[in-house]
Amino acid sequence: MDYFPIFTNLKHKPVLVVGGGHVAMRKIELLNKAGAHIQIVALHLCEKLANMAKKNHIKWLAKIYHAKQLEKVFLVIAATNNSELNSQIYQDATNRYLLANVVDDKSHCSFIFPSIVDRSPVIIAISSSGSAPVLARFLREKIEVLLPSHIGKMAKISDQWRKKVKERFCTSSDRRYFWEKAFNGLFSSQVASGDLDGAKRTLDYQLNDINSSLGEIILVGAGPGNSDLLTLRGLQVMQLADVLLYDYLVSDEILNLGRREADRICVGKRANDHSVTQKEINHMLITLARQGKRVVRLKGGDPLIFGRGGEELQAAAEAGIPFQVVPGITAAVGATAYAGIPLTHRDYAQSVLFMTGYCRANCTVTDWPILARTDQTIVIYMGSIAADDITAQLIKYGRDPTTPVAVISRGTRQDQKVFIGTLETLPALVHHASTPTLLIIGLVVNLHYNLAWYQNTN
Ligand code: SAH
Repeated sequence: MDYFPIFTNLKHKPVLVVGGGHVAMRKIELLNKAGAHIQIVALHLCEKLANMAKKNHIKWLAKIYHAKQLEKVFLVIAATNNSELNSQIYQDATNRYLLANVVDDKSHCSFIFPSIVDRSPVIIAISSSGSAPVLARFLREKIEVLLPSHIGKMAKISDQWRKKVKERFCTSSDRRYFWEKAFNGLFSSQVASGDLDGAKRTLDYQLNDINSSLGEIILVGAGPGNSDLLTLRGLQVMQLADVLLYDYLVSDEILNLGRREADRICVGKRANDHSVTQKEINHMLITLARQGKRVVRLKGGDPLIFGRGGEELQAAAEAGIPFQVVPGITAAVGATAYAGIPLTHRDYAQSVLFMTGYCRANCTVTDWPILARTDQTIVIYMGSIAADDITAQLIKYGRDPTTPVAVISRGTRQDQKVFIGTLETLPALVHHASTPTLLIIGLVVNLHYNLAWYQNTN
């Protein structure tokens, strides 16, 4: 081990920084967060530092460095552009057994700054011992993505419970079991969703009955198919899942990002196949959650747009099962972006309307005159089968038969295809497209010719 990692408490401790430029400022911003009492020696201060000095957030001690300034300081940072001066400062500090850091000069550092992931009070410091700082930053970004922002809050609440937990469980393995359950279960979700009272009740509940398991349902939007479009929150909860219940619209790429040990159940619904009914899905969700499982229900796009996610939540609410929703990028937003079709544009469309081409028996879309407005983009989900009827109605109620239309097949995926035509050719167009397909009607479609960027779909 080349360096020994420690976390120091710098609150109100004097720290000397020599140098007043941007490099010094970056370090000072960090030290400031830790509550250090910063003293600065520099000929000039950059604008930001000058402001900080004015507000007394830092103390401009002197213009010229002198070894005497090292008396009564806790740490020393040299960030001048004069390497001789920097090494002099390092020598002076080392002679006094002070920890010193010359920024970006590993040979003149008795301590180094790690890359930091800050979820205070949880802090993760990463270092490559100065050998590959870019690698350390790269690792930091990876960790940053994986760690939910609420873990700091979780740690604060846990601190208030430590005493109770210690009194309740005498062995360290029981205590560990308690905390593992809390951090992986409902307590964590409740903190994430801002229900701090609920989170505290869950800890109390578990304190009384360590073997009790409180399950939950998390509805997650997996986006339109391209795994890069999954949200961070979606990824985080997928990695904590006990069970992943997914539709056929969820791509394998995304499914593979889930926790390895999680059970995977396909409840895919596709026209004409003998898939699980909605009632059975609701029942399955509730039964699994009642067994104490964290059930992640993955749905294509956004779970609450034409996905019957609302009905699943209603079932959970009725059964008294806690639930959360992680929104996703809906097909209308994802597929059009990847096809180079802006849904609104000041010159062509002042509004956008999402509709479904598939309705329950005896439910009909009646307001065709509103749908026929010229300055409006219409996006139709599940529209291929109804393309004939949609075309006939829109033309009947006044939409120009030459209005441009796009059929986006398998939007955002590697095999995305975009078919462009006009309203009157729409029924023929959909025959070429493999599912899932999205229909776009409106003048904005013409922008595709200039704006297509993904796979050059022109
Ligand atoms: N909840 C989903 C929609 C479910 S309805 C969402 O928010 O996107 C299913 C319909 O969505 C499909 O029939 C198709 O019309 C559309 N769809 C979903 N993913 C798509 C994709 N990658 N490309 C084109 N259309 C898509």
